[in-house]
This record gives sequence, structure tokens and C-alpha cells, in this order.
Amino acid sequence: MGHDECIFCKIAIGQVLSEQVYADSDLIVFKDIRPVAPLHLLVVPRRHIPTLQHCESEDQELLGKMMLLAPKLAREFGYAYEPGSDKEANGFRVVMNTGPGGGQELYHIHMHVIAGLRPSICM
Ligand code: 5GP
Ligand code: ZN
Repeated sequence: MGHDECIFCKIAIGQVLSEQVYADSDLIVFKDIRPVAPLHLLVVPRRHIPTLQHCESEDQELLGKMMLLAPKLAREFGYAYEPGSDKEANGFRVVMNTGPGGGQELYHIHMHVIAGLRPSICM
């Protein structure tokens, strides 16, 4: 898979700078360069997979790890969902745009974690 020109691969190896907030052996998380809300993070696997459509059953653990990281990040940044709370920013959203019809611009899978604005149907 040719991904020499992939910006997220470059970010993953530190060749392109990002405002990183989390990293482990599988994933990196950094702030979106054009945030649509007060919290807008991108959860990105280090491994290059073009789209969610390309994922196989062997990617189940990776995808689960991405999804389970979202509430932890939300909590860290003050946007955890707390049932019964009347705080203004109570919860967050995760989005994985897939293909042109899904609004995907960068073809290296990433999960948006967005919070702090009243959700609309589109991002
Ligand atoms: P997509 O539309 O593919 O789901 O989202 C790609 C996201 O990556 C966009 O929200 C865009 O702002 C963000 N993005 C594009 N290039 C860069 C970059 O170089 N650095 C960071 N931090 N975000 C980027
Ligand atoms: Zn890549």
C-alpha cells in the first residue's frame, strides 16, 4: 500500500508536527487543525488503513481500542457524559467519515472526537 505521501503516516512518525495529546504503540491522538468545536481530536492508528471499508475482522481489536479511548479522552478534556448532570457540555460525538460520500478527505482512517457544541446532523 503506497502511503509515503500520507499526512497521518507522517504525523505518526513525527515527520509532520501535530498537537499530540495521547500516544501508545497502536494509536496517536492529536488536535484537528481545523476544529469544528471546542474539543476536536483525531484518533489515528499508526498503521495505514485507507478507510473503514477496508477494515477486516483482524482489525476488530484496533477499532475497539479506538472507540474505547474516546470516552477516556472526553473525560480528560471535561466532556464526559454524566447522566443526570445539567452541565452544559454533557457528552461528545465520534465520527468516522468513509469515502467521498461520507465526506472523507484524508484516506488513513481516523475517528473524530468532537464536543462542546450543540450537535447538528452534519459536522
Ligand atoms: P476527514 O474529512 O477525512 O474525516 O477529516 C480529515 C480531518 O483532518 C479534517 O478535519 C482536517 O481538518 C484534519 N487535518 C487535515 N490535515 C491535517 C494536519 O496536517 N494536521 C491536523 N492536526 N489535522 C489535519
Ligand atoms: Zn497513512
